[in-house]
Amino acid sequence: MAQVIKSISEFCLDLIFPKKCVNCGEFGSFCCQKCLAKIKPIQTQVCPKCGKISDLGKWCAGCKRDSNLTGIIVGATYRVGPTKEMIHYLKYNSVKELSQPLADLLIDQLIEAEISDKTITTSVPLHKKKYLERGYNQSEIMAKIVAAKLGLNYQNLLIRKRYDKKSQVELKGDARRKNLVDAFALCPMIDISGQTIFIVDDVSTTGTTLEECAKVLRDGGARRIYGLVVARG
Ligand SMILES: [Zn+2]
Ligand SMILES: [Zn+2]
Repeated sequence: MAQVIKSISEFCLDLIFPKKCVNCGEFGSFCCQKCLAKIKPIQTQVCPKCGKISDLGKWCAGCKRDSNLTGIIVGATYRVGPTKEMIHYLKYNSVKELSQPLADLLIDQLIEAEISDKTITTSVPLHKKKYLERGYNQSEIMAKIVAAKLGLNYQNLLIRKRYDKKSQVELKGDARRKNLVDAFALCPMIDISGQTIFIVDDVSTTGTTLEECAKVLRDGGARRIYGLVVARG
């Protein structure tokens, strides 16, 4: 019965707000097959610093690791195909259906990797106020899809302490870095000592946000910390 009601309400919603491809405008889905085929998945993960090919996007031996991140695993190229539009609509226009194809980009990168089932998946948090305004955290939705597919636990590990009117994307260079210093804290009563952690973020340009999150997790005792970025600019 619940399923029938759900189908009816979905049918009515489709009449009022017909699904339309966010990239080309074709009706029928939020991203049509033609546009999905234009996504450019990352073929080989690389060292985030020097760009040398590197398994799971780990910092290579040559790049002295001055980072708390073990690696950054990237799903797709941000500015090619519909990826940028998809992330934008998921984030600002509540098109939550797009979280599945976007999460799939990360799953494709990880599906053949040997990942311990003890790895904890988490996401870059929004400030509580922003979470209430938006109603959801797009990175959390995608992280939960990734965790479920890989058989991992999802847990909110971090709190965002600072509320920003401007999004990180609007800030440049120094302002961006300053804005993130001490922006995050570990959730109370959480034990992550010795753990491997995946932090999911939608877009990463400089990696500053992930770096700040990783610092907090490292201070909390985490052993390996990977950023999982749906798209990199
Ligand atoms: Zn399309
Ligand atoms: Zn390197």
